[in-house]
Amino acid sequence: MPTFADLEIDFPLFGADVSEASGWQPHGVCEICSQQRSGFEIGMGDYVESPCATCEAVTPMPANNHPAECVQCQAEVQLLRDLTGSHGCWRCLRSGRWASTKDTEAGAVTPVHALLGRTHGLPFPPGALADTAWRDTGSNHPTLAGWPVTDPNEDGWRAAIIPSKVLVELVRSPTYITWQGEQWLFHCRRPMKYAGPWGKLEFDAAAPNRDGRSLALSSAGLHEDAWQDLSDSAGECAVLAYMFECLDCRAHRGHWDID
Ligand SMILES: [Zn+2]
Ligand SMILES: [Zn+2]
Ligand SMILES: [Zn+2]
Repeated sequence: MPTFADLEIDFPLFGADVSEASGWQPHGVCEICSQQRSGFEIGMGDYVESPCATCEAVTPMPANNHPAECVQCQAEVQLLRDLTGSHGCWRCLRSGRWASTKDTEAGAVTPVHALLGRTHGLPFPPGALADTAWRDTGSNHPTLAGWPVTDPNEDGWRAAIIPSKVLVELVRSPTYITWQGEQWLFHCRRPMKYAGPWGKLEFDAAAPNRDGRSLALSSAGLHEDAWQDLSDSAGECAVLAYMFECLDCRAHRGHWDID
């Protein structure tokens, strides 16, 4: 299977094969621009840009026709048609005419969050994350995946404060397929590039001294049993390791789940 780069489709954050992208449709007529162009099935959690009836500014509206707030004037807006299940082309996704919610290690990011420059956040401190993922060593300022956080809300959740430019690029990227849910990772203060699910052979090839086991344990948090269960090529066993590469420093990070 080709990558998006092979097809001359510009998604810098998605380096894996197109078959790893959720809802990929090689052919279709775009519901938004009416052009015949490859793209994706528009799904739950996706948003389509449309003008607000109150202030006329363009604002993201849920594709499933649920009401939302205009990001400019906070008036209630609604798309007035349900576009879930229809085809949205890659150019319209890339340019933001539609966009998709992403789950990240700093909390969920809808296209509205992206414009506001913060994530939905997480309960704090986030129990599932390693201590170093949220606590700045040497200071008392908590962070989430390296980003500063808001004060806690009444439920104790804090949102990560991330520049809008960074989050907008993320929600204008394809979603990767997982068993248990995506968790986009950050490094060097930007979203990492999704490299795909890795088997032992990919870890060995990427590791210094070809020690794929050490790399898998340190970069993706696999424990010893999960490494033993991992197959040589991804997808042939009940363990999948979803790997990312930093576009700045080339470091690898990942997460894993089981069938
Ligand atoms: Zn289109
Ligand atoms: Zn408005
Ligand atoms: Zn980096």
